[in-house]
Amino acid sequence: MSGKIWFDGELKAWEDATVHVSTLGLHYGIGFFEGIRSHATDRGTVVFRLTDHLERLRRSAAIYGVPAPYSVDELRQATFDVIKANGFEDCYLRPIMFLGQGADPLRAPFHTAVIAFQHGPLVGAPPTGGVKAKISSFHRFTANSMPPAAKATGQYLNAMLAQTEARAAGCDEALLLNKDGYVADGWAHNVFAVHRGELLTPPTTSGALPGITRETVLTLAAERGIPARETDLVRSDLYLADEVFLTGTAAGIVPVSSVDGRPIGGGDRGDVTATLIKDLHDTVHSASHKEWLEPVE
Ligand code: PMP
Repeated sequence: MSGKIWFDGELKAWEDATVHVSTLGLHYGIGFFEGIRSHATDRGTVVFRLTDHLERLRRSAAIYGVPAPYSVDELRQATFDVIKANGFEDCYLRPIMFLGQGADPLRAPFHTAVIAFQHGPLVGAPPTGGVKAKISSFHRFTANSMPPAAKATGQYLNAMLAQTEARAAGCDEALLLNKDGYVADGWAHNVFAVHRGELLTPPTTSGALPGITRETVLTLAAERGIPARETDLVRSDLYLADEVFLTGTAAGIVPVSSVDGRPIGGGDRGDVTATLIKDLHDTVHSASHKEWLEPVE
């Protein structure tokens, strides 16, 4: 890897953006981060919902009582600077703040970085068919253990348990229930089901991350006249769904072909999923939601 990384207020060469092994964020998994996409358009490079992502980063830190060292405006400019410094258009951006070095973990300063990875264009869904999902035997954490509303680094140990189990069972993607047995989230995606033309997704109170793609999809569905609702789902609601799909910034909308070995719909993507994949793709390149497309300045 080469190029530039924005690190604590300055652009550094890739190999110089390093920290010491005693960095506490590494030891305790204390950090907050985002995954964001930028896209080449005929109006130049745009970052999709950058401000919404940066505000979620600040909210993640606020949940843990950590004041963010940089404002949303500063991080927006840092993101633009790192894209320009690398000469990228389509990229995956990773802003992260993590606990640095110090004797007292509760007083150590936080580092902040924005990393850009060159990436192919959206959408990450497989060209045909879908992914095999498995419901994990591990539960998603709760608001009184590690609040699922935060996108925090240590929380991904739970995701790792679930995804390792799914892969060992020959599946592609893990889904997690909450402690009461309701569908919460994917290991790194939100979950949607379609029943008789209606789009259903678990509420964030069931343990879903407040996903930016999730919210985008709910908005696009409303504009299409597709009825959509947040509601508690149990595992059989997924088994019996006409369509199931996952959403996330990196992958876009990913159709699910089976859940726990039970085929979903015809095993290929359904009509609602296909419509929303197209709408999400078009949104990035059309003027219909200009407020979501932040031009690199
Ligand atoms: N749930 C989890 C646990 C995630 O890690 C992600 C990826 N950020 C998502 C859902 C999807 O969120 P977004 O659409 O904002 O990328």
